[in-house]
Amino acid sequence: MERTFIAIKPDGVKRGFIGKILQRFEDKSYKIVALKMLNVTQEQAKKHYAEHEGKAFYPSLIEYITSGPVVAMVLEGENVVAGARHIMGKTNPDEADVGTIRGDFAQAKEYNIVHGSDSVESAKREIAIYFSEDEMCENYKTMLEIVMGQ
Ligand code: UDP
Ligand code: MG
Repeated sequence: MERTFIAIKPDGVKRGFIGKILQRFEDKSYKIVALKMLNVTQEQAKKHYAEHEGKAFYPSLIEYITSGPVVAMVLEGENVVAGARHIMGKTNPDEADVGTIRGDFAQAKEYNIVHGSDSVESAKREIAIYFSEDEMCENYKTMLEIVMGQ
C-alpha cells in the first residue's frame, strides 16, 4: 500500500489548524501509520528541501519550516501521494480550489500551512528524514480496511 509524508507546517500549528487538517485526511480514511510533533532541525530542513537549494525562496523556506513545531505524519492508502496533494490543493493558495486545505486556510504560497510528498520516491526519502522504521504503527485496522475485508 502506498505511503506519503505530510507535515502541518509551523503556521498551521500556530493558527490552531492541527485538528482541522488531520480531519481532512481522516475523512478520506487514509490510515495514519505515524504521527508526531517536532521542531525541524536545520539539517532536516536542508535535506527535506534539497531540491529547492539555490532558488530565491530557499532561505526563507528553511527559516519558515524551522520557525516552530510541525506535526509530521505518514499516511497510507490507495494512491495516497496524489490524493493527499489533491486534498491539500495547489502550492499557491490563490490558485488552490475552495474545499482544499490551502484553498480554505491559506493566502500566500510562502505560508501554505501544509506539506505533502510529490511522488512515491519523494515520500520514501522524506519519511526517512523524519521517522525511523520502529515509529511506524501499521498494526491496526482502520474501519475502511475492515469494511473492505483487507
Ligand atoms: N515556496 C515559496 N515560494 C515559492 C515556491 C514555493 O515560499 O515561490 C515554498 C512553499 O512553502 C512550498 C515549498 O516552498 O510549499 C516547496 O515548494 P514546492 O514547489 O515543492 O511546493 P509544494 O510541493 O509544497 O506544493
Ligand atoms: Mg514539493
